[in-house]
Amino acid sequence: MKINDANGVEIDSEMSIVFEDGYFGLILESWGPKVRNKDYNKALEVIIHRLKLSGLKRIEIFLASSGIRKSLNNMNDRRIKNHVDGFFYIDKDSAIDNRLNISKSQKFFDATGKKQVASGNGTKRILIHAKDLNSEDAWMQILDFNYKLPLKVANISNLKEKDPGKYLQMPAIKPEGQINPLRITKTVTVFERDPKVVEWVLFTSYGKCENCNSDAPFISINGEPFLEVHHVVSLSAGGPDTVDNCVALCPNCHRKMHFSNEHEDLKSALYSKITRLKKYNC
Ligand SMILES: [Zn+2]
Ligand SMILES: [Zn+2]
Repeated sequence: MKINDANGVEIDSEMSIVFEDGYFGLILESWGPKVRNKDYNKALEVIIHRLKLSGLKRIEIFLASSGIRKSLNNMNDRRIKNHVDGFFYIDKDSAIDNRLNISKSQKFFDATGKKQVASGNGTKRILIHAKDLNSEDAWMQILDFNYKLPLKVANISNLKEKDPGKYLQMPAIKPEGQINPLRITKTVTVFERDPKVVEWVLFTSYGKCENCNSDAPFISINGEPFLEVHHVVSLSAGGPDTVDNCVALCPNCHRKMHFSNEHEDLKSALYSKITRLKKYNC
């Protein structure tokens, strides 16, 4: 399998998605000393960059050449280590730095095992493993440039200036829509919420969003500031309908809590900010 660079030009480097020695991941290979796939380094950088865009924080790299696989049975012995815990932190270091660190650590291995001194640059066949990418589909999304990866808001800070539209995907055809949409009756499970809890949380918020502190965006029909009450641990996940699991949010923040790619961070921020909240691990 081959991938393209950001300009759509094919990168000359062979790779495959595998389940090998108990680990799921991507094999990237080139053969030394005559490097057959000249774009090995470029491919590695592109992959690391795409993994970072997907929101992953760290990856693990294992040597996977046939000689090494025979002589070092234990995956841990074949792990190319970085930092103290052996992970390569793709969210902190650039793709180029990670690639350089990988090849630096790789030089402590030869065709069959570990060396005391770094030297040479032998066979390269590495397995890139990321804990959350455990299906072929997940890896295909990383490799396929037509697939827009979720982008961290941090990367597109100040959306207005940076043309947020460019992060949207163009649909293939303009849809006709439906003049008379079909009416479907669905059965949904709803939880009965205690109106007193809602009332109490709204009153405590004094008309300000408990996430961003801004005033409610408008006054609602009943004459009160409009905010929405959100369960920090959702009822469907087993969270309780109690004031120590509820926050008053403006509609933007409420949507963010549910749909942002940073919702876990937002949730932690609520816990540290609002003292009445109790952490429920449901
Ligand atoms: Zn808000
Ligand atoms: Zn909610």
